[in-house]
Amino acid sequence: MHEKDVKFLEDAFKKYYFEHFDLIHTPKNPEMREFGYQKFNSGMNRHISLKSDKELHLMLMKNIPSDVYCSNAKYSFPNLPMAEKDWQNADLIFDIDAKDLHLPCRVSHTTKKCSICSSVFSNTDSCPQCNSTKFETTSLLCNECILGAKKEVTKLISILTTDLGIYSENIIVYYSGNEGFHIHASVPEYEKLDSRHRAELVDYLTFRGAIPETFGARTNFTKSTFPDLDDRGWLGRVSRAVFNSKSNKQKISKQIISDGYFSFKKKIESLQQEIGVKIDPNVTIDVHRIFRLGGTINSKSGLTKMRCTDISKFNPGLDACFIDESDVTVEANCPVSFKLKNKKFGPYQKERITIPKYAAVYLLCKGCASVV
Ligand SMILES: [Zn+2]
Ligand SMILES: [Zn+2]
Repeated sequence: MHEKDVKFLEDAFKKYYFEHFDLIHTPKNPEMREFGYQKFNSGMNRHISLKSDKELHLMLMKNIPSDVYCSNAKYSFPNLPMAEKDWQNADLIFDIDAKDLHLPCRVSHTTKKCSICSSVFSNTDSCPQCNSTKFETTSLLCNECILGAKKEVTKLISILTTDLGIYSENIIVYYSGNEGFHIHASVPEYEKLDSRHRAELVDYLTFRGAIPETFGARTNFTKSTFPDLDDRGWLGRVSRAVFNSKSNKQKISKQIISDGYFSFKKKIESLQQEIGVKIDPNVTIDVHRIFRLGGTINSKSGLTKMRCTDISKFNPGLDACFIDESDVTVEANCPVSFKLKNKKFGPYQKERITIPKYAAVYLLCKGCASVV
């Protein structure tokens, strides 16, 4: 990124951090956490120990990071190298990202930046300027993608509370600041789990590796022993997905039996897409990761990782956009339009425009503009 763009973004981020300390807090037991941060055009600084909100705020003002992270794990010595930290336990964390939902709308809000000549384009597989097929892709905010991700969050919370008995007050949902949601669960019974056990939990939540026998099938089955629609956990969820209503059960059961075991096995496998929760397995399994800190800005968008108290009503472009509205002139090259604070921007074809600072920050973070 160009020096003057970095300077512009750092000034905007600094102003945000200075004015919004009320949104930025260390998690529980800060003295046991590892913190880290990145600056624009620079690598990761890790193994930092911060003991209070005050120390965190000082760090933000001193360094003006592009991104700030904190471990879900708690350690005896968080600032020592990994092997010497003495891991104690870790919050359960789930990451739901719209890009993993592969919705058909994605192509319409994805921009591509040529690695050779920096042209920005969309809808073609090679650069219209130099024909290069090397490019980086960036996706802009999309309402359908956010709705899809919200649906997965609701599915996840329903399983965490009903199947695993986690109280909803111990589950915190954050908008990631870009295209997804982070769900943090702080429950003593689960905090001690190592990666291997977390992987089993991931299999359960994503409905991976389910076998037809669990749901009443036998290699040579002649009699229906399928679960009821109101059975608890996956039994009921599978039954509801297969039969849809109680009145269909007898008829569809007969059909399943006549189609045979392997056809039912296929059906169970295909259900994973439909009823399994689409979490990123690596995030939940990793117990040493540092994770974006709530209240801080995501440099992929300039939006804030925000706590959502009512996810159904949460509107990222409005509720997570805290940069001010002062006019800024930029050279914009963004083939896709986007909406922030209920205002539509773009598309822009290599043009000089004056827009509110929050939109300029967003475009710069997306690599689709430069300050003039
Ligand atoms: Zn090119
Ligand atoms: Zn979309």
